[in-house]
Amino acid sequence: MQAKGNERRSQRAAWAKLANTGQQGKGVEEFFDAPEANTWLYDPCTLAPGEFMLACKMRTNTCQVKASLAAMCPGMPTKCRRCHLEPETLGHVVGGCSFTKKLRIARHNKIVDALAERVAQHADWEVQKEQVVATNDPVYGPLLRPDLIFINRPNGHALVVDVTVPFEGDWRGESCLDLAAQRKRDKYECLRTALLERSDVTSVTVHPFVIGCRGAIHASARETFGALGLKKSCTKKYVSRLALHASMRILGIFLDGVEVRAQEVDLAAMMELPLRGDHAPGS
Ligand SMILES: [Zn+2]
Repeated sequence: MQAKGNERRSQRAAWAKLANTGQQGKGVEEFFDAPEANTWLYDPCTLAPGEFMLACKMRTNTCQVKASLAAMCPGMPTKCRRCHLEPETLGHVVGGCSFTKKLRIARHNKIVDALAERVAQHADWEVQKEQVVATNDPVYGPLLRPDLIFINRPNGHALVVDVTVPFEGDWRGESCLDLAAQRKRDKYECLRTALLERSDVTSVTVHPFVIGCRGAIHASARETFGALGLKKSCTKKYVSRLALHASMRILGIFLDGVEVRAQEVDLAAMMELPLRGDHAPGS
């Protein structure tokens, strides 16, 4: 057991080192302590063969995006083939390119809906989606619209939950997922005062819900699952898989060059998650 543990730590260090030398190890640290985000690696049958290969390439940052190809063929141009503004990294394609914006919004909305549906199954919770709240905040006000407000009816405790799906990696030495969580906390903290003025609310907590583009489950999301009483690992697996699957679709559309027009394409249907094995939704 000791030898196995040492080997795992050694492999972890080797992968993390790649993050400092190129693209391949980007965000690898975010997956080490997230078993729910790694189940497809142990049980490949939960993905179709083509999906499994693509998921492996996404995890190792070896997809056919220009920055990854340039790492093997120095001198290749890396400018994004769609927006022509940024280097074409996997993080840019699934996390920032204007070409994939509508799809990224659909991915975000899928995760919001999944969370709302799970909580709504429990009678104690009132679920409010995209509720506009007036604030007097000089930076973020006068109106804010968090993705979700959950109110525990028996005790009046309100949870402000806002979902974000950044790419797993780092920016100036800090985890992008940590930074995203902090930005959400800063933005929605002012809602405490506003919501406490409501007669049905006795206390308020603010919860960023950060899931990585490749399915990493950030500590903020774990805290939110816990605060909402969603303890089963199948729920965490499901949300992680939603993010990964949607990002695979986004990458495929980007590489195919299919222009996405919201009025012509059912974006939500495109993000549908084929359910296999133990990834069916639970609570
Ligand atoms: Zn682009």
